[in-house]
Amino acid sequence: MVLAGQVAVVTGGSRGIGRATALALARAGAKVVVNYLNREREAREVVALIQGQGGAALAWQGDVSRPETARALVEGALEAFGRVDILVNNAGITRDNLSLRMSEEEWEAVLHTNLTGVFFCCQAALRPMLRQKGGRIINLTSVVGLTGNVGQANYAAAKAGIIGLTKSLAKEVASRGILVNAVAPGFISTDMTDGLPEESRRSFLERIPLGRPGSPEEVADVVVFLASPAARYITGQVIVVDGGLTI
Ligand code: NAP
Repeated sequence: MVLAGQVAVVTGGSRGIGRATALALARAGAKVVVNYLNREREAREVVALIQGQGGAALAWQGDVSRPETARALVEGALEAFGRVDILVNNAGITRDNLSLRMSEEEWEAVLHTNLTGVFFCCQAALRPMLRQKGGRIINLTSVVGLTGNVGQANYAAAKAGIIGLTKSLAKEVASRGILVNAVAPGFISTDMTDGLPEESRRSFLERIPLGRPGSPEEVADVVVFLASPAARYITGQVIVVDGGLTI
């Protein structure tokens, strides 16, 4: 168990990629704090699955777009498990619209949750990681942050922002043994992509050389790799997991 004795915090761990990541980190031996916003039943189910396999986990409700939540989330992890070794900034939302029609609410909701929330969770987790002289931060960006996408100016801006944040933070804390990387999924089967109009789903799928959407588990495996000792010489990178969509 490569992550035995380590403690991981996964934001948005109740569903989709976050759920698969929480379960995979636990299988690798980590104790996991499963953050969620509204779906308490789903978060508790993830915790029960982990406990059923002999692992340790707890569900933690909180809106990561609020700076005070980020601090409380890390405090909660420290109180329950005594340390924070791995932070996975996974929580994310979409509010798609063409730029000309995009409202202030749609712009701000996505920027606050998908970018500002990531920054404040990183800031909160850095304190225990600096004390511990080590840690791993893994931020979920998107191929859309690299390529842009029609109807997703807010989402693409936030995801591109995560890439700049990841690289800057990686430079700031490398000397302290803290590695910061990003994972950029392509088209992954989750509630987020289930909500896309049929036409954009088809257009994505037609452009994937591997010919199918990815699964949450295929992204989770990369997150676990980045959290593991095998990734000890990797920092400030964006690992694309997209079945070839962006080649
Ligand atoms: P999802 O199925 O829609 O799940 C989103 C998760 O985020 C849920 O657990 C949700 O909690 C949580 N969440 C949303 N807002 C939150 C907030 N303010 N505070 C705390 N938790 C919050 O999403 P997904 O498809 O798994 O995506 C996960 C991440 O990967 C996102 O950052 C997304 O942008 C990125 N991504 C996904 C794809 C894809 O194809 N699916 C592609 C590229 C990047 P509740 O369950 O309580 O609502």
